[in-house]
Amino acid sequence: MTRKLAGGRLVVASHNPGKVREIGDLLAPFGIEAVSAGELGLPEPEETGATFRENAELKALAAARAASLPALADDSGLCVDALNGAPGIYSARWAGPTKDFDFAMEKLRRGMLETGPVDTRAHFICGLALAWPDGHVEYFEGRVDGELVWPPRGQKGFGYDPIFVADGHDITFGEMEPEKKHDISHRAHAFRQLVDACFG
Ligand code: IMP
Repeated sequence: MTRKLAGGRLVVASHNPGKVREIGDLLAPFGIEAVSAGELGLPEPEETGATFRENAELKALAAARAASLPALADDSGLCVDALNGAPGIYSARWAGPTKDFDFAMEKLRRGMLETGPVDTRAHFICGLALAWPDGHVEYFEGRVDGELVWPPRGQKGFGYDPIFVADGHDITFGEMEPEKKHDISHRAHAFRQLVDACFG
């Protein structure tokens, strides 16, 4: 049975203020007050999992136990078919400590060229875990499929957005209006599932 969350405080297991604000806005209509792991001074656990699910669950559980409150965590990334799913859970790490995504996108392009005839299929994944202090966890995963293009186009998004064209579209996520991207993205799909299952 899916466990529901009926109002109250929820820890967003992230130290990224932008992410916390965005999640807080999504949850406010359900009477849920989002507080960030950063505000509560919670430590950031190392992402030692081998999958999006493992990483999202370990972050959510660590925050729920430390704060004695339900906690929500996400883990996301870009999976490229020609690279057997890389960078995947390492998407942020490919950009290095300075978060240089021009470098990460170029690394992708070179890696794909080395694999021979270029298969440009790729997808973004967003894993969302909602955990309670007693160890119960609910997990949801959203996905958006598309093609990678070069050169990168558009400044509206972040990360790998300038090289990703979602199926059925001809502009990159970097060129797309944020409201439109938020409607069709992997994150939107995962959030819809979470809301339907746990806040409905
Ligand atoms: P996380 O914060 O550990 O989940 O890192 C996710 C990483 O995946 C980000 O730093 C981006 O590199 C990449 N990523 C995830 N979602 C998106 C997206 O919607 N657009 C572009 N890049 C994304």
